[in-house]
Formats: sequence, structure tokens, C-alpha cells
Amino acid sequence: MQQDFRNYLKKFPDKKGYFGEYGGVYLEPELAAALEEITIAYKTIAHSAQFINELRRIRKEFQGRPTPVYHCQRLSKQLGTSQIYLKREDLNHTGAHKLNHCMGEALLAKFMGKKKLIAETGAGQHGVALATAAAYFGMECEIHMGAVDIKKQAPNVARMRLLGAKVIPVTAGLQSLKEAVDSAFMAYAKDYKEAIYCIGSVVGPHPFPMMVRDFQAVVGEEARAQFQEMTGYLPDAVVAAVGGGSNAMGIFAGFLNDPVELYGIEPLGRGSEIGEHAASLNYGEIGVMHGFKSIMLKTAEDEPAPVYSIASGLDYPSSGPEHAYLQSIGRVKYAGISDEEALQAFFDLSRQEGIIPAIESSHALAYAMKLARQEDKPGFILVNLSGRGDKDMDFILEKYGDRL
Ligand SMILES: *Cc1c(COP(=O)(O)O)cnc(C)c1O
Repeated sequence: MQQDFRNYLKKFPDKKGYFGEYGGVYLEPELAAALEEITIAYKTIAHSAQFINELRRIRKEFQGRPTPVYHCQRLSKQLGTSQIYLKREDLNHTGAHKLNHCMGEALLAKFMGKKKLIAETGAGQHGVALATAAAYFGMECEIHMGAVDIKKQAPNVARMRLLGAKVIPVTAGLQSLKEAVDSAFMAYAKDYKEAIYCIGSVVGPHPFPMMVRDFQAVVGEEARAQFQEMTGYLPDAVVAAVGGGSNAMGIFAGFLNDPVELYGIEPLGRGSEIGEHAASLNYGEIGVMHGFKSIMLKTAEDEPAPVYSIASGLDYPSSGPEHAYLQSIGRVKYAGISDEEALQAFFDLSRQEGIIPAIESSHALAYAMKLARQEDKPGFILVNLSGRGDKDMDFILEKYGDRL
């Protein structure tokens, strides 16, 4: 490997929040000042022994960490000589990796003396994880959600309410994720002395991409040690699905300085035309949206382009700035998987191993299965199984029930 990643996590992002040319803060001065307060608090508080010990305890006692690494023996045998392993984030409390950064963000809010957590949600996964964190800490929680999404995602809306969160319907524009982001930012701008904004992935303005990566890095740290203990080796390849990119950055963080190939997998959806996929790093260009600079899918008018994926957690028109950077220097390869390939992997893992994966995670698994079929390159492949698929069952039954 040409580059030295030994101190990478300390050196990136730089003081202004840039990973190479990507990242930064593109907001009006008042909000930028509020984020500067979070950056300073994060740098001091989150590196104190008290914070680290408290987060460790929460991860162990409340979240059930460490999550295991599991060897898929039956699935691997079907594919050839490569061996597929899973990092089981589906067994993290609430069934996905998202709680890792939500508990970190909420603990920081508590140390900062904040009383309220504000965020937007699309399909509701981030909203449920944050509402869980708010309930744990006894904080108020306000989730902004497009009115159209509220109708589509009734069970997640019910979960958020059960957990004590206030779900704010957003009726502007297309009444979906983009409008929810704007609404949540506006609410935060009015209330930043009492509240903290909690982003759902390694996206948004600095310090969020850094904070969320650092909170998710526990996945990579655990996985590296567990894999070595199980096999005596490092994996040859690590594969993760990329929506905003938090589960991928979490597992990659453990392996950046190792001779391990890293693959981020984007949703190719139904085709390569705009509106049929959400593969921003594969098809996008440099631009600014939602307060940060990255690679994104844009319309001719410089607005976020419409995106689509069978996996609602992956249909975001950009990816975190750190992914844009790691792609630009060639450290991570970003490939894609179609709806159909992800579905096949969803059925295969359920049938072969007794694990129903999230349809998001199925994208990473499908790519790992492709790698495993390449006879010239046998090896150990570690997949970040970012979540469980129970949430996808209604949709699968309705659309693909004939395949059961
Ligand atoms: C939200 C979600 C993702 C995508 O988010 P990232 O920030 O890219 O990790 C992937 N898998 C699951 C299960 C999710 O809920």
C-alpha cells in the first residue's frame, strides 16, 4: 500500500472539517456558530475518560455489544472456496448499526447540558434509533418527517411515539426526506441553546461526518480483533453497503491501515438513468447540498436529483465526504448492486444461514457473494451486516411473496 494510514483517524478531517477537498460547513453564520459549539464540545468532552467509560458501559449493558462475527459455512460452500463472515450489527439493540452513533450523540448532548434531540428521518430508521436514545437518557426528542413518509411508514411512526418522541409532519414541497432535513435544520436554528441536532449518517456539515464515523468505529475495532481471534488472519476484503455511509465508515475505520481491500456498495436500483438508482459515488459529481461538499447526484438546476432504491436506507442523493475522499485516493473501491441482486442475497442468507438480513445489508452481501464466486481470488471476505430484515418483511411479502 502506498499510503500510510497509521494516524489517519486523527489527521482527517482537518480543522475545518475537510477530507481532501470534501466536507466543510456550508451554512448561514448563525447555524455555523451552533455547529462550532458542538465541534468544540466534542473535541473536549468525547475524549474525556468519563465520557469514554460511560459510552463503553452503555454499549455493553444497553446495546449488547460487542456484536459477534459469524462464519457463513453453508453459504460459502455453495459459492466456492472463499469464506464469507458477517459482522452482526443486526444483533445490536434496535436491530441495526444506527444506535451506535445515536447513543454517542445523545451522550454528548447530555454532557453539554442539552435537553432536546432534533433530527429528520426518511423511512423512520434513524428516527426510531434516536427516539430510543432519547428515552434512555430521559430527553425530549423531535423528529421531522415528510407527511408522505409518515403515511408510508406507519409502524416506525408508532414506534417513535411509543418511545416518547414528537413526530412533526412536514408538508412543504414533496413532503419527503429533503423537506424534512430543511425543517429539522430550521427547528434547530431556533432552538440551538436547548437542543442538539443529531444527524443519521456520516453526512451533513462538520463535525457530523467525523463524530458519526468515530462513534461507528467501534464496529471496525471489534470486527478486526474478533476476526483475528477466529481465523488467525485479517480478512482479504471488507464489504459494506453505502447510503450516507455510516456503517461502511465504521467498519472501514478498523482496516484502513491494513493490507485489506475495502468495498463500498451503492444501490444500482432498476437502472442507470437518473431517478432509477442512488449510486452517487458511481454516477455523481462534486457539489454542495445539506451543508457539505461531496460527490452527489444533481439535476441541471443544481438541486438534489430524485433517487430510488429497493432499500429505503440507501436512497440518498449523496454520500459522506470521507467516502468521496477515500474514492479519490483509491483506498476504497465503490461498486454497485441492483435491486434484483440484493433480493437474491436476501433470500440466500435467510435460507442458507437462518439470518434474515436488512435489504440494505443485502447489497453488501450480494457483492461479497460475487467476489466469492471469482475462482482466481479465494479468500476471507468480511461483510458488515448492518441490520436485520424484519422491517422489510411486509414489503417482501407483498411484492415477492411468490418467491417464498
Ligand atoms: C440506514 C441504514 C443503512 C444505510 O445508512 P449508512 O449511513 O450508509 O450506513 C444501511 N443498513 C441499514 C440496516 C440501515 O438501517
